[in-house]
Amino acid sequence: MPRRTDVQDLVQQFVDRLSSLIEQDTVTRAREAVLSAFGGRAPAGLQLRGAGKLASSVVGRKRRKGPIQLCPVPGCSNRAAPVFGMVCSKHKDLPKSEIKKYREQRRAQKQKEKTKKAA
Ligand SMILES: [Zn+2]
Repeated sequence: MPRRTDVQDLVQQFVDRLSSLIEQDTVTRAREAVLSAFGGRAPAGLQLRGAGKLASSVVGRKRRKGPIQLCPVPGCSNRAAPVFGMVCSKHKDLPKSEIKKYREQRRAQKQKEKTKKAA
């Protein structure tokens, strides 16, 4: 868990680096972005959760990944990967028509659970 001072140092470094690299108006805009990341609060009153978000955006852009998809094959709980056509590595050789069938089954199952919950 990062200590508060570490994060503040990071913020300071970030601002310092920006100041030396970019023109003043850009710095102002960046500072506004930083402040808005803290919900309008000054960095002195920063919260660790917001600081973590800031730190990750400073250190490197966080890769946005979609939610984890699971392989649609029944009984298989491996993760599906886009490179395999959204099935797991074990089932990547299954014919597309099979996969499609499994997918539809899964969707129907989900729908059923939903309506059961609603009722
Ligand atoms: Zn699988």
